[in-house]
Amino acid sequence: MTGRQLPAPSMEIQPKPILKRTSGYTIDSFPKGLDTILTPQTSGFWGKLTDCPANPDFTTTDIPQIWTADPWIGCLWGLSCRFCYVPSVGTRLYEGGHSSYWYQEWGNWLIYKPDFTSRLRKQLLDGAGQTRPQFKGAAIYYSPKTDPLLPVKDALAISARNLDVFLDAECFLMIQTRSKAVEQKDPPILERIIELAKRKKVGVSFSISTDILAEQRRIETGGLAPAERLRIMARLKAAGVFVSAAVAPLMPYSPDFARKLVDSCHHAAIQVLHLTGAGAATPKPVLEQTQSEIPHYRELAGKLADEIDAVPGAEQFSWGINNKGFLGAFLAAHRFYEKS
Ligand code: SF4
Repeated sequence: MTGRQLPAPSMEIQPKPILKRTSGYTIDSFPKGLDTILTPQTSGFWGKLTDCPANPDFTTTDIPQIWTADPWIGCLWGLSCRFCYVPSVGTRLYEGGHSSYWYQEWGNWLIYKPDFTSRLRKQLLDGAGQTRPQFKGAAIYYSPKTDPLLPVKDALAISARNLDVFLDAECFLMIQTRSKAVEQKDPPILERIIELAKRKKVGVSFSISTDILAEQRRIETGGLAPAERLRIMARLKAAGVFVSAAVAPLMPYSPDFARKLVDSCHHAAIQVLHLTGAGAATPKPVLEQTQSEIPHYRELAGKLADEIDAVPGAEQFSWGINNKGFLGAFLAAHRFYEKS
């Protein structure tokens, strides 16, 4: 590690998979993909810009090479996020597809990728500790198919060690989370994020669908209340960390939501619940219920964007709709750190 030495998290561990509620299933193989560390994104969500608005707008040529990284397969919050389409993305990885344990019980299992941290280090850095040329200036999204800060002891220890690797590598990290563990002291997650921010190479994309708890509960049965999410985002922002609000899926919100976003973060990636493609499938009942119960649901994204632009003092705040929001977050982070 260069610069100030941070206290080391626990030694590399290889924890056992967490498999809850296995009764009634025959599990004779694990999902494929446990060897994957960094995946280049050249098509699909990250590689093909949608024709959606963004402020400021940008084009494909502005976007850095994006890689994604999931430190484990599975998620322990799946029963909370009713909208989650991630298990359907992975059905080709599960023997038995939709009838497999892995699909049916998404949210109840997690399998750690073997030696993730040391393999991440080897992939990003050469033997002399220099960033390999293909990763210099690359943007890494951590993580697209799970929460890298699941509040589980072993998972947080792995992520703390991964952040040490990112401290050493010359690339930009976007942490996607909805977890309070972003503030974790032991292992020291927050301290590492702040150190990464000092080196201008991290952003936190924090999930928040609305500022109204009852609306959030339509699509997320558990999880932090909106006020707590806004508090965490504001804390990160105050600590000098670039913060993007992952307002996805957007749900009905109060007239103050736009101002709260401007106060607590730097950018908003806005997306309504929609039919997803590329093998991913938003659960149909959740999509149909949302669209039938909420009048003009699909117009909410543009409405929120307009309201953000109308907030006094929002000139520096940026936003984008659909993948322009998530891709634009990398560009917004770059602008933020250039000025700081
Ligand atoms: S945290 Fe992400 S991957 Fe996990 S259940 Fe929620 S939306 Fe799906």
